[in-house]
Amino acid sequence: MHAVDHTKNSIEISHVSFSYGETEVLRDITFAIHKGDYLGLVGPNGAGKTTLLKIMLGLLAPTSGRVTLFGRDAREFRDWSKIGYVAQKAVNFDKRFPATVFEVVLMGRSGLRGFGRALTREDRAAAERALKTAEMWEHRDRLIGDLSGGEQQRVFIARALVTSPEIIFLDEPTTGVDAQSQEDFYALLRKLNRESQATLVLISHDIDRVLGEAMHIACIDRTLVCHGSPEEYKKEAAAGLEHRHNK
Ligand code: ADP
Repeated sequence: MHAVDHTKNSIEISHVSFSYGETEVLRDITFAIHKGDYLGLVGPNGAGKTTLLKIMLGLLAPTSGRVTLFGRDAREFRDWSKIGYVAQKAVNFDKRFPATVFEVVLMGRSGLRGFGRALTREDRAAAERALKTAEMWEHRDRLIGDLSGGEQQRVFIARALVTSPEIIFLDEPTTGVDAQSQEDFYALLRKLNRESQATLVLISHDIDRVLGEAMHIACIDRTLVCHGSPEEYKKEAAAGLEHRHNK
């Protein structure tokens, strides 16, 4: 039985503001992501979603406010094996990259004890498990560049899974992926969330998809415009439209 553990926060975002130079991009954002949650982070282009993601990953320091990951300040957090990250397919890698699917997934293990160390049997077993979960084991010996967009994204999920992370961040993960592969991809995310209790943070501009998949929605447009269940989001969006219509 899957349940969100409201007593445990994986991430706490507390009064976070951020400016690039003089330009304020985020203002006073506060919300928490619970263990086992499936959060959809939505908002228009340029709303600050990627910036907030970078702050959550400790890559940018907030101008004010604080983010904690598992109770530790994001800027000091070092336990990266607990965090998985799947980017847009297009920014992932060079298509001519001469590596097999299995090798790409194994690379996800090198961060654990540093690059250049010898791979262990444990690394290979973890890569096998991750590829099986992502249903890509049978493709393990193919070159990554020869796969379809949807297949490649499953490999990148497997690479993110190979350290058994507690949270997986996905930034527009299905850009350029065909419709059927998108269905399969979201089914895999549901499985990870429900069966493996992975906490998921999904950034997407595909609002209908996010509303259908996520358990909670955080809507950002410089400030936190809304935060709640998909049903609450729909109600607020409808009220907002009516408000604009009556003006
Ligand atoms: P989203 O992911 O919601 O599209 P971003 O976080 O990428 O939004 O961007 C928020 C705003 O910050 C945008 O107006 C964007 O142009 C600006 N921005 C993003 N990155 C930088 C940067 N490195 N320097 C200056 N401005 C930036």
